[in-house]
Amino acid sequence: MKYWITILLTAVAMNASAQLTDTVEWEKLVQFESERKGPHLSAPKNLNTLHYDVKYHRMEWEVSPLVRYIGGAVTTYFVPQTTGFNQIYFDLHTAMAVSAVQYHGTSCTFSQLPSSELLVTLPATLPVGVLDSLTISYGGVPPTTGFGSYATQNVCSNTVPAMWTLSEPYGARDWWPCKQDLNDKADSIDIYITTPSAYKGVANGVLMSQTVSGANTIYHWRHRHPIPAYLVAIAVSDYSVHSATLSLSGGSIPMVNYLYPCSGTSGTTINNNLQPIMQLFINLFGNYPFTNEKYGHAQFGWGGGMEHTTVSFMGGFSHLLLAHELAHQWFGDKITCGSWADIWLNEGFATYLEGMTYENGLGGGASVWASWKQSKINNVTSLASGSVWVDDTTSVSRIFSSRLSYDKGALLLHMLRWKLGDTNFFQGVRNYLNDLALAYGYAKTPQLKAHLEAVSGQNLDEFFADWYYGQGYPTYTVQWSQNGSQMLTVQLFQTPSHASVSFFNIPVPVRFNGASKNRTLVFDPTTNGQTFTEQLDFTVTSVEFDPDRWLCAKSSIVLPVELTELSASWDGKAVQVKWATATETDNRGFEIQRMSEYGAPANNWETIGWKDGQGTSQTPAYYQWPDERPMPGMNYYRLRQLDFDGSEEFSMVVSVEARLPTRQVPGAGRGLKLFPNPTRQEVWVEWPAAVENAELELYDVHGRLMLRQRWQEPLQRRQLLLGELPGGVYAVVLRAGGQVWMERLVRR
Ligand SMILES: [Zn+2]
Repeated sequence: MKYWITILLTAVAMNASAQLTDTVEWEKLVQFESERKGPHLSAPKNLNTLHYDVKYHRMEWEVSPLVRYIGGAVTTYFVPQTTGFNQIYFDLHTAMAVSAVQYHGTSCTFSQLPSSELLVTLPATLPVGVLDSLTISYGGVPPTTGFGSYATQNVCSNTVPAMWTLSEPYGARDWWPCKQDLNDKADSIDIYITTPSAYKGVANGVLMSQTVSGANTIYHWRHRHPIPAYLVAIAVSDYSVHSATLSLSGGSIPMVNYLYPCSGTSGTTINNNLQPIMQLFINLFGNYPFTNEKYGHAQFGWGGGMEHTTVSFMGGFSHLLLAHELAHQWFGDKITCGSWADIWLNEGFATYLEGMTYENGLGGGASVWASWKQSKINNVTSLASGSVWVDDTTSVSRIFSSRLSYDKGALLLHMLRWKLGDTNFFQGVRNYLNDLALAYGYAKTPQLKAHLEAVSGQNLDEFFADWYYGQGYPTYTVQWSQNGSQMLTVQLFQTPSHASVSFFNIPVPVRFNGASKNRTLVFDPTTNGQTFTEQLDFTVTSVEFDPDRWLCAKSSIVLPVELTELSASWDGKAVQVKWATATETDNRGFEIQRMSEYGAPANNWETIGWKDGQGTSQTPAYYQWPDERPMPGMNYYRLRQLDFDGSEEFSMVVSVEARLPTRQVPGAGRGLKLFPNPTRQEVWVEWPAAVENAELELYDVHGRLMLRQRWQEPLQRRQLLLGELPGGVYAVVLRAGGQVWMERLVRR
């Protein structure tokens, strides 16, 4: 079933005003509802009708679109399932007055109970397992429940009389004696509609005959597939009938369209639009389930559509509605949800198959597919709570919640497909549709789950706990950074919107875009805040969460400290390291680190300074650090950014050549003299002129400072004791009077 969103909005608005005008009553209702709801509460079930198995109904009805009245007889074939079977119950509204119940020509006593049940006392106790039958004659003015279970209304601007039925979910008993719970399909039915000859009657299955009888015509429809009570339907109006054959690869299907005089759409147009959708669904999910009968549409005056088996009742013929109701012939009609709590097995699939038509290039194609997915995500995440599983099957509006049963149900399937992959998903669904225990019968959620688990080898307990029974959705935060060697670090956080789920399990795709290439990485976190690293071969310029919209989730992307600038420049006296941030999150500050060419090849960085950060800030900030003691030659700088929570990340690396005034080429031996060199225990250091405040540093090959000495007195020569220094190559740097000398020293 699908109803227009405007109707839903009206209902929501009405609820809201009722809530405002009568808060006390509303609160009482909420309390009552919440007390009644238990965990995994199943649909209300009529235990009295469980004692027999319905095999067949012959329904003979006299109706007119001009008069709100139904009269007739329903003959039911049934098989008793329990011993002592001397009475039989049917669901039938008290507005329907039973005139007689005949059992093999004998009138039975019966009573109509206030619980909308008909209790028939049989003349004898019937044996278990033996097919038997009785006929109920009745008539009355049907009530209207649910979405208008029995309607008589003028259509086409009030010029054409019409009647139709729409029993889902609890309205079959409003107009015929049935067994309307979702546990027993009638194996087959015959429907005889007697109506004034000015009108035509349409129902499930194949039209066997139309017979004029006085002023009336009797339309005999026959359906030879199992059918639940809510899908039995009739409609009568001044229809024009368009019959055709739908050609499909591998066969054809008879098509019949019953259209109002004002339909504005021809049967040919409808069939032309339907044909590629039908072909797609056949390709994906197997043959149309009722090929040997027909598919068709009957126009009705309700704002939406209803997937009555082999004849969808349609308020219009949009691409979306055609696709939705046709999809139900597989999902809803061939396999029917086994309880109203499992309605997503009908509506989630029908909604998802709407989307699949776009995905496969129909009805607007790829761009609609993208926006369709986004609109479903937006709708589901517009509220923090709610599960696909229907937690209150007494509420018709909850059963048919477009946000939960339709859209979240569709996204649940989409996420299963993402998790399992196309091959497993589609094969699992086909296995479900072809399961002899389910096909043309009922299914509940665990049975679909079992098929998907069997085909994929994956255990889906956690998935269904999160996404089917659990409420809400996750909001992901992607925190990322990339270092100078393009190593990517990603930390994934999620915040569930509802307390019923502590952590949503689903693989998370994130696309990292560079200037000329991109890469989508799929993370499968098992804990909140899990960190992932990946070596990329490009610099990331932007990040996109779930670019193909697989997840029912919200997201935000955070580069914890966004550096917009980092540079190092030599001003003749110092290297000026400058950087700027656009935003900062939890930023304690920056360590300034340096490595000289003498540090190569080992990656040894020396921390030379510290700058406090802004904490968390959306305001651009500018920083500068002067390195007044650079090494002669190339100097490399980077920032080690530290969060208050202890996490760290590194900036890219920038380099600058410090052109010191008297820079000595290593080994040239001019200016600074070392002797003996190589040496064992000590070395004499001599520089060109006696200067005050000379400072000497000794670096190892990794760029580590091993020794530092200062002399205030004016000297020109000094002996260094090398002490515990290991053997190897060292750089000796002497700074004095604004000049720097350097020489290489070898210790044996
Ligand atoms: Zn539907």
